[in-house]
Amino acid sequence: MKILTIAAHPDDEILGCGGFINKLTDSKNVAECLILATGAASRHTKENEESEKEILLLHNNAKEAANTIGYSEIYFEKFSDNRMDNVDLLDIIKTIENYIEKIKPDMILTHNHSDLNIDHKITFQAVITACRPMVGSYVKKILSFETPSATEWQFPYHKNSFTPNVFINITENLEIKLKALLHYESEMRDTPHPRSDEKIKALAEYRGGIIGVKYAEAYELIYEVL
Ligand SMILES: [Zn+2]
Repeated sequence: MKILTIAAHPDDEILGCGGFINKLTDSKNVAECLILATGAASRHTKENEESEKEILLLHNNAKEAANTIGYSEIYFEKFSDNRMDNVDLLDIIKTIENYIEKIKPDMILTHNHSDLNIDHKITFQAVITACRPMVGSYVKKILSFETPSATEWQFPYHKNSFTPNVFINITENLEIKLKALLHYESEMRDTPHPRSDEKIKALAEYRGGIIGVKYAEAYELIYEVL
């Protein structure tokens, strides 16, 4: 099986589905990853040399993390960080379509519709549009993941909450997930931040409890063609 993770920022591809990717690439599957936004520029007042340096560093972190977790390839686009709502949705969709045409994935892992982060929401919208299941479509399954510090901070009102219905046992993979996140020193925080080692482990433990295993990742099934 060929898997493509489509994430907004460098680190989401590990935070959201690192355990599952590591589990999948243990067997005969191939996983690649597409990162849409730079992940850095929004922290600076304007795009300057400093942000270019930070983007480069993040790309290097992402390559190392990809190696650790088992992605065979990682691609970077340069949509503006936390400003993807300023881009024509169609441009993002076309970009994703080009990668899907090239990679021909069977399964896509991406953000969920309800994250607080605007780039995550837009990524989800663009992915499901690019993957409309038409004649000759490659994609047979889309799962959306939760991202610590973006999913839980969208406090549930109306029907905007992440409602997982697929759980992956990552008991054997959590340690490698945490190891991959070590490459993202600039993105990780001290506990009790949700993007800290301790809380990522706590979330995996909570998700594991739901299905009776030690550690798990949770997903929403968007669609599956059998
Ligand atoms: Zn993100």
